[in-house]
Amino acid sequence: MELINDPSSMRDWSRSQRNRGLTVGFVPTMGALHEGHLSLIRTSRADNAATVVSIFVNPTQFNDARDFAAYPRTLEADIELCRNDGVDALYCPTVEAMYPEGATTSVDPGPIAGLLEGAHRPGHFAAVATVVTKLLNAVEPDVAYFGAKDFQQVAVVRRIVADLDIAARVVSHPTVRDPDGVALSSRNVRLSQAHRRAAPVLFRALSLGASSFRQGETSPAKVRHAIEEHLAGEPLCRPEYVALVDPATFDEWSGRGPVVALVAAWFGDVRLIDNLVLSD
Ligand code: AMP
Repeated sequence: MELINDPSSMRDWSRSQRNRGLTVGFVPTMGALHEGHLSLIRTSRADNAATVVSIFVNPTQFNDARDFAAYPRTLEADIELCRNDGVDALYCPTVEAMYPEGATTSVDPGPIAGLLEGAHRPGHFAAVATVVTKLLNAVEPDVAYFGAKDFQQVAVVRRIVADLDIAARVVSHPTVRDPDGVALSSRNVRLSQAHRRAAPVLFRALSLGASSFRQGETSPAKVRHAIEEHLAGEPLCRPEYVALVDPATFDEWSGRGPVVALVAAWFGDVRLIDNLVLSD
């Protein structure tokens, strides 16, 4: 496995693969790798001759400096996991290589960046759009893999890839969950035991919303109420938002057509997000 630390070496490596006729799959991450990441990596390995994983804890996308400082970092273990899983190149750029002195450009993904996660984390999606654009420019993959757990992030990435004529195909990978329904996340290790025990409430609440929808409920207020009521029954969960939107446009769900339910909630000082597509 190649270890690469700067954009131009990354681009040289990728181009040398493609010059040999190999397709390149790319899995961008912030490290602290878990089964969710590994399942993206395995999908890329199955689809492509070469797989690149990036690990970069992007400082600009954290709107809380404490969250950035507390973000788990397990580089040695991550390198081992990537090596064992047959990753061909691991791209770990330094902050200086990504944001050299004098860099001022950022990518504005438009209105979607101001909704839901974007409304609660100002500047987050511009920072994500900027770093993903830079990573895609360095890796120049044929296919890039993103997790549906970060549902709005996938929509932002699809927007920038379409709008900026980026050549990569974007694949959304289903959310990998623990047996109790908790979506795997690098932040889960920061949950106290009590908060970890409370965390399955998110998926249970989303599933209740889905079953009320399946039973024919088309009132957005009532489906949302089913979710909110269940969350309210867990004292260790402090919901930030519950939303029902059209998965393509992120317009509020009108009661007809495709719909995804999205939640964000605090468990102590750890903020978790989750979502479930009720109809696509
Ligand atoms: P992160 O390291 O949290 O930035 O995640 C890197 C990529 O892995 C993103 O595309 C995430 O959406 C994806 N990912 C994270 N957790 C999961 C999960 N539980 N299931 C599927 N994909 C995930």
